[in-house]
Amino acid sequence: MSENGKQAEIPVSFNGAHPDIAMRSLPDNLAVKCPKCRELLLGKDWDRNLKVCPRCGHHAQLTANERIDLLTDEKTFEEIDGNLVSNDPLKFVSNAQTYSSKLEGLVASTHLSEGVKAGAAKIDGLPLMLVVMDFRFLGGSMGAVVGEKITHAIEIATRDRIPLLISTASGGARMQEGVIALMQMAKTSAALARMADAGVPFIVLLTDPTTGGVTASFAMLGDVTIAEPGALVAFTGPRVIEQSLHVKLPKDVGYAEFLLAHGMIDSIVHRRDLRATIVRVLHLYAAAEAVAH
Ligand SMILES: [Zn+2]
Repeated sequence: MSENGKQAEIPVSFNGAHPDIAMRSLPDNLAVKCPKCRELLLGKDWDRNLKVCPRCGHHAQLTANERIDLLTDEKTFEEIDGNLVSNDPLKFVSNAQTYSSKLEGLVASTHLSEGVKAGAAKIDGLPLMLVVMDFRFLGGSMGAVVGEKITHAIEIATRDRIPLLISTASGGARMQEGVIALMQMAKTSAALARMADAGVPFIVLLTDPTTGGVTASFAMLGDVTIAEPGALVAFTGPRVIEQSLHVKLPKDVGYAEFLLAHGMIDSIVHRRDLRATIVRVLHLYAAAEAVAH
């Protein structure tokens, strides 16, 4: 009570909380809601569970760095072409924003130079060329720089006879680069054909979502193709097909489980088992290589 007998007025901050409470900072991911089943989970449990929902098994997207940490031996990833950045060949403008300024914003918000990271790494002591797409960077879309980094990684793998693993997450070719983006489909596929001729193994890891020109090129050219559970993998997503053709598609069309049932992919692997599965495949290839040479 204040001196004049009236209730002292407690200052309230803009969001209604007492300022002392509002000032105290809370961790960004104290609680996470599963995007699929809406279960509320503790952030630390979510991270510990590799961003897989313990209730419904939903595999949330990982950043490129999280994926690299998940798959590779600690501190073995050596990035190549990390200095390559996109330019704006078409002077593309959308919603009054130039492509160049959009790229600048993405570089600042994601701390990535482009939508893919490529490099040499070790996994269980075995050498590997690794390419990881990051969906946060313009939907993991493939422009000239993404195509060049992937092609360069393929060429190094071919030259040095090191297995290649590409982890995909992409909306497809990057419309802001028009036909130059579409060219990357042919460029990456041609490099992979040379790698196949040389007998160097190529493993694809399909993560949610993998669509468009990426699905229509290198994502479907693996010797071994693994997908994460529930990943959307399609050229065109099922909802768009249903809306444009006015048809009802069978359940699960476009998802990893449907692809496995119809022979399009080799295996669906839970995130916690991915590393061990890839290690097993690499050991098989290493044994075959030793016999052949
Ligand atoms: Zn869930």
